[in-house]
Amino acid sequence: MTRTFSFTLEATDGAARLGRIETPRGEIRTPAFMPVGTAATVKAMMPESVRATGADILLGNTYHLMLRPGAERIARLGGLHAFMNWERPILTDSGGFQVMSLADLRKMTERGVTFRSHIDGSKHELTPESSMEIQRLLGSDIVMAFDECTTFPAEKEVAASSMALSMRWAERSRDAFGDRPGHALFGIQQGSVYRDLRQESAEALTSLDFPGYAIGGLAVGEGQEAMFDVLDYAPAMLPQDRPRYLMGVGKPDDIVGAVKRGVDMMDCVLPSRSGRTGQAFTRRGAVNIKNARHADDPRPLDEQCTCPACRHYSRAYLHHVFRAGEMISGMLLTWHNLHYFQQIMQGMREAIAAGTFEAWEREFHAARGEGDIDPV
Ligand SMILES: [Zn+2]
Repeated sequence: MTRTFSFTLEATDGAARLGRIETPRGEIRTPAFMPVGTAATVKAMMPESVRATGADILLGNTYHLMLRPGAERIARLGGLHAFMNWERPILTDSGGFQVMSLADLRKMTERGVTFRSHIDGSKHELTPESSMEIQRLLGSDIVMAFDECTTFPAEKEVAASSMALSMRWAERSRDAFGDRPGHALFGIQQGSVYRDLRQESAEALTSLDFPGYAIGGLAVGEGQEAMFDVLDYAPAMLPQDRPRYLMGVGKPDDIVGAVKRGVDMMDCVLPSRSGRTGQAFTRRGAVNIKNARHADDPRPLDEQCTCPACRHYSRAYLHHVFRAGEMISGMLLTWHNLHYFQQIMQGMREAIAAGTFEAWEREFHAARGEGDIDPV
């Protein structure tokens, strides 16, 4: 097994890319979807089940883990992989985004951010240096630079100064990360919806020579059309030979549209979170299992799906356990959703390899256009 981090671009079809990231903890097939394991667990899923859906890599949240149970404690217990029983690659975010969305009494300076925990009010600081140290203690394979996710909408001057701060923090992140063979630090492009700022950001990051790059500041309420507008040019500003990670995306059609535009990696809580609230994603669009129309339906969620929820259970059962508040409801729907998301990724990887991405995409949209099967 390799001892270093590397990315190989294997094929392209239009702007869509097929590739492979090698790490000492295993290979990541790209385009890749990363399930989110916020608090050292993908909620409602055993790690071996997450793997069975086809996931090569998980995402962990620095903000949550530093507050509870604490990065030092996880390090003492052997690191995040051993702690949560996931031996394959893990990517951790820098904590910055969640400080801004979850913490209380935030104060941001050139140095970093001080804040109070949303759990117990305790005071903490995150800086590029402390974020690198926490992610090192967690032992993640892909570490994200500490940045400020520019809010949306942002006036151009605000987006410009926010991006410039993130670029200074990217350099401090790189210096603090140091040389860690087998681990990779990704820089994060900012610049909101302004093309020249995205270009400036890409140039600043590229001069720092990161092994991978993220496209940040999207999926923050701008809507799919505005996001795709940025993705029409932003990925191509980043080096061809490095993986590109679009943070926090998305719905199935967002994911397909992002891959079509040259994105290699994505993460989102949507499949797991929706699984716990009774929403299933299928080839034929979203299905709300709460709906009374499923109460007597003996058919599976999706007759073509090979996940346990679809192979062994009826819509009527899934409806019943959701209504009854049974835990298996969240377990089965989360499994199905993660399986479906990984099927999309697998389908796109095969299509890019075969040079048939456009046809695959047409079929993907046609099936969704049909809508759910008629009620019994
Ligand atoms: Zn299924």
